[in-house]
Amino acid sequence: MSEESEVVVLATRNHHKLVELRRILAEAELDVRLIDIPEAEELLGVTVPEIAETGSTFEENALLKSAGVCEATGLPAIADDSGLCVDALNGMPGVLSARWSGRGATDATNLALVVDQTADVPDELRGAQFVCAAALTCPVKGSTVVVGSLEGRLARAPRGDHGFGYDPIFVPLDDTRTTAEMAPHEKDAISHRGRAFRRLALVLADRAER
Ligand code: IMP
Repeated sequence: MSEESEVVVLATRNHHKLVELRRILAEAELDVRLIDIPEAEELLGVTVPEIAETGSTFEENALLKSAGVCEATGLPAIADDSGLCVDALNGMPGVLSARWSGRGATDATNLALVVDQTADVPDELRGAQFVCAAALTCPVKGSTVVVGSLEGRLARAPRGDHGFGYDPIFVPLDDTRTTAEMAPHEKDAISHRGRAFRRLALVLADRAER
């Protein structure tokens, strides 16, 4: 990263996401300085408003967030939206993944609800996907959105201590472990978020060359 690296804002206040994306962009050898919303607010002396996730798709929500942060800061902005889509629940919880068990929902209550809702689903119908949309909005060049997904199936009971959210019941195809039983770097290599952000890094690199 050089002194004149382009500053790009990641539309999050979650430091863990910033660290994860910095790692992916570094692997792609991109010359950008990625900062999160609190750092952008401090740097520019602006307040970035909360952006409601009112879209009905992951792509719409990611674009709402990247466009909102780009408008508030005047800088290029990246945002993501992700979740679990369960075949036997017609693709739900989907964009409602973080709020699936209602007001006061936590990772634990959301997980318990999906375990309960799929308890009677037979083995051959237990397919599911993790999906992540990653969006980039630039002040002049506009927006782009890409998607990454991970195919798998749902275990009947939670297993493993790594990760978060629905990881303890998600078993990727070609594996017997849940994503909560994988080391973080193993999950990164195959995950929906890793795939989406690696694709977005290619978009950023391509844009820088023009
Ligand atoms: P958001 O993308 O931060 O809005 O959160 C999406 C929600 O989807 C999280 O609260 C989790 O419940 C779920 N989710 C997204 N990605 C993962 C993952 O990698 N593992 C487990 N759960 C996930």
